[in-house]
Amino acid sequence: MSGKVAIVTGSNKGIGYAIVRGLCKKFDGLVYLTSRDVERGKKAVADLEKEGLHPSFHQLDITDNKSIETFRDFIKEKHGGIDILVNNAAIAFTADAPEPAGVQAEQTIAVNYFSVLNTCEKLFPLIRNGGRVVNISSVMGHLRNIPSVELKNRFKDPNLTIPELSELMRQYIEAAKQGTHAPEWGNSSYAVSKVGLTALTMIQQRMLNDRDIKVNAVHPGYVDTDMTSHKGPLTIDEGAVAPLFLALEADDSVKGQYVWRDKQIISW
Ligand code: NDP
Repeated sequence: MSGKVAIVTGSNKGIGYAIVRGLCKKFDGLVYLTSRDVERGKKAVADLEKEGLHPSFHQLDITDNKSIETFRDFIKEKHGGIDILVNNAAIAFTADAPEPAGVQAEQTIAVNYFSVLNTCEKLFPLIRNGGRVVNISSVMGHLRNIPSVELKNRFKDPNLTIPELSELMRQYIEAAKQGTHAPEWGNSSYAVSKVGLTALTMIQQRMLNDRDIKVNAVHPGYVDTDMTSHKGPLTIDEGAVAPLFLALEADDSVKGQYVWRDKQIISW
């Protein structure tokens, strides 16, 4: 084995699990299935073992600083670096969720934007040259989901910084708490979180341009998982196709892009 290391967050089920399955088959290196819950994670590893695949396991809750730091220190000590990082873990409220908009906004942005950002800030120093980061965005992470032209321009600004983007996310949470968010931000905190993640992807690539590291965002397709209440038509393995393409096969010129499930680069 090459000594290379791949990590997938939130991979005890759904698309992340299928990404681990695909990496175990195609990646010449160790693949870490990570899960916030140790039992669910170990069960997922055992299921893949039955298929003759051998992912490694480590606990990782992306909302928990201590958990991220423990994982980072473990990887640093044991392997010295990371070659592939797939930021897959996320949450979504269902359309009929009773929680008020402000609560949904705060929790969704906390996991899907701020926790992914925090995980990246802690793990990026370990990413080796030639490394690839895949941020699992969504069709909802397209800018067309944001009604305000002014906001769209802020998100697209090639000089936007991470502190400025984080401030935009906080402004959205505040607006949702006040109930004034809809005209500018739309009605989906999930969409705002994924637009934030897509914008973050582009900033991260700009910040890593002096190193040989590629960061891309991807819409995996509409997939049959718990998150979609099993309404998506694609299997989890079909949902893993574009993420695996970006992690393993995409041309080196593909970086800082928003990529569709059919592997095409989409204008954001
Ligand atoms: P699932 O709900 O099936 O799986 C989500 C995974 O994320 C689970 O393993 C879950 O763990 C984990 N997770 C949630 N919170 C945390 C956390 N704090 N720390 C670590 N792991 C966490 O969703 P999908 O497989 O459908 O979604 C995977 C990705 O694809 C997400 O980013 C989603 O937004 C995106 N996506 C999905 C689409 C679809 O059609 N399914 C479409 C577009 C994008 P646990 O089991 O403990 O809850």
